[in-house]
Amino acid sequence: MTQAVDSVDPVDPHALDALKRYFGYDSFRPGQSGIVSAILSGRDVLGVMPTGAGKSICYQIPAAMLPGVTIVISPLISLMRDQVDALNDVGLPAAFINTTQTPDEQDTVLAQTASGRIKLLYIAPERLETERFRNFANRVRISLVAVDEAHCVSQWGQDFRSSYLGIGEFIAHLPNRPTVAAFTATATERVRRDIVSILGLADPAITVTGFDRPNLYFDVINMPRRDKASWVASYIAAHPDESGIVYCATRKETEALAESINIAVRERRAAAGGGNVVPDGTVAVAYHGGMSAETREKAQRDFVTDRVPVVVATNAFGMGIDKSNVRFVIHHNMPESIEAYYQEAGRAGRDGEPSRCTLLWNESDIVTRRRLLDMDYDNDRLTQQEQDAVRASKHRLLNAMVGYCRTTDCLHEYMTRYFGEDGGVSRGDNGMCAGGCANCGQSIETTDVTDTARAISRCVHDVGASVGIGKIVKVLRGSKAQDIASLNPERMPTYGMLRDQSEAHIRDVLNQMVTDDLLEITEGRLPIVRFTHDSLKTASPDFHYEMKTIKRGRPSRVEGVSPRPLGSYTPENDGDEALFQKLRGVRFAIAQENKVPPYIVFSDKTLRDMTRVKPVDDEMFLSVNGVGASKLAKYGERFMQAIREFA
Ligand code: ADP
Repeated sequence: MTQAVDSVDPVDPHALDALKRYFGYDSFRPGQSGIVSAILSGRDVLGVMPTGAGKSICYQIPAAMLPGVTIVISPLISLMRDQVDALNDVGLPAAFINTTQTPDEQDTVLAQTASGRIKLLYIAPERLETERFRNFANRVRISLVAVDEAHCVSQWGQDFRSSYLGIGEFIAHLPNRPTVAAFTATATERVRRDIVSILGLADPAITVTGFDRPNLYFDVINMPRRDKASWVASYIAAHPDESGIVYCATRKETEALAESINIAVRERRAAAGGGNVVPDGTVAVAYHGGMSAETREKAQRDFVTDRVPVVVATNAFGMGIDKSNVRFVIHHNMPESIEAYYQEAGRAGRDGEPSRCTLLWNESDIVTRRRLLDMDYDNDRLTQQEQDAVRASKHRLLNAMVGYCRTTDCLHEYMTRYFGEDGGVSRGDNGMCAGGCANCGQSIETTDVTDTARAISRCVHDVGASVGIGKIVKVLRGSKAQDIASLNPERMPTYGMLRDQSEAHIRDVLNQMVTDDLLEITEGRLPIVRFTHDSLKTASPDFHYEMKTIKRGRPSRVEGVSPRPLGSYTPENDGDEALFQKLRGVRFAIAQENKVPPYIVFSDKTLRDMTRVKPVDDEMFLSVNGVGASKLAKYGERFMQAIREFA
């Protein structure tokens, strides 16, 4: 039932025409046209596409072409306004109903929709339960129901929302069953099955597009905690024109880091004689769930409208943030799963322009994450057995994340393989991944760690009690710490055997042994190092063990760490860059006048293309990627005027 990506599908010429007319794009991206054709032929669909792949177009184009209204169910009301603004801007009449409106306003929207004036109506799932909406739905012609973030129906997903469970029943009770299209970026098989059964999709065409994001550069840096803040501040100071997100693990951290970024960047600019910088110019704002709704809203607006380039946030930030020009996402700590990392890092570069995702981690991040998982007893509706199963599954997710930090393989490859896709990474002639990553093209250093591994294994035997990594390392290094005194370590042959090796190195080897199944760490509140049935191998005379590490420069050198990654754009000359900045200024002014975020006027990618084409008449302007008829009419003259002045 899964449908391959549609490079061979014939593209519906009317759909292509609508794509060009409304959105100004010349072609569909992988997966899009197959989904659009299926919907237009009345077939249910499930589209599994990574963030930024362009899911919205998949239902917006059919919505423009189908006779009735399209109901879009979306989890976040904060997102609706921007989406609706963007649609109206391209000439597709859209509206939303949500709790921010008075009943009168809601009635007006429903009346407009009933009269056929609205093509797309955005609602949150809770709305379906209201009497008023059900009455309305029974009266109007609904051609399509599009369910965004459809994984919210699944308890196995990260963002389960009980109100999503009502969608299937709502659809089943409509007088005429519309086509149903569900979209998600969550790839696991279990979640997909839940979506199909809970939403009641009928023989859906399932399209799964590639998970690789070739415009993203992936970087992983092992860094002590104390260096992280200044690294982040240097990175931001070195990229003054770029918008980015920094993710932190705790609320407190977001505020402290935002503060130190602002201070550090200000000092750096002052030292560089940055005379034209506003003295109190804020570079970074914090965002987390503990702030008042008002403060959060303001932080989000400031970021989305480019007034403040950087937001420092917990993972509460981002779902539903549709800002296409995010140039970097930095993780200050290791996230809990590849799914979470992919989703958060994937908020970079939605416009397809080269962008960078950097993960800063260290051993203590891993320990913290493990501890948090084991303390996480918040679901008292589950039996002990179910809780253990959930915990074990979370540990598996975490281990895959740890694997990402440690791998010496291509990071694009690691990620796509995790999502069950082999050979999905686009590569250049040199065999390196197209987006680039910290590992491709680096030299890899191989160290023989046979003796260390043997010593670790023997020490686990010597200790013979239930202890964790920390104590094993202490015994091996001959520590006199009190907490191992009761083990009576002096009697052990391995006591002090690795006195000359650093704690970090021994831990690295031990962790790699766990990855390779030579040892295991129990998944309990106090993780214990134990033998596996492969542990015996370390005692064999043939045993040979190596560790591969990436040789890289000092991590704190920010300038060197940030080459502009490969991509469609390279600044040919300063003139083009100056024109780009001028066009950004025009965009900012229009956005302020219309009270919308700048990227709704035009994306960075469109401005880059405009910089290249330098259009001075309507036809040229329309040829710019991302310019449709409606935007030509609204904004064309102002941008062309700026281009003429520039020339
Ligand atoms: P998703 O919902 O999958 O995360 P979006 O629908 O927000 O992604 O699309 C991401 C970006 O890609 C948007 O800026 C959108 O306008 C752009 N986009 C979508 N489809 C195309 C296309 N066929 N050609 C060019 N740009 C596209």
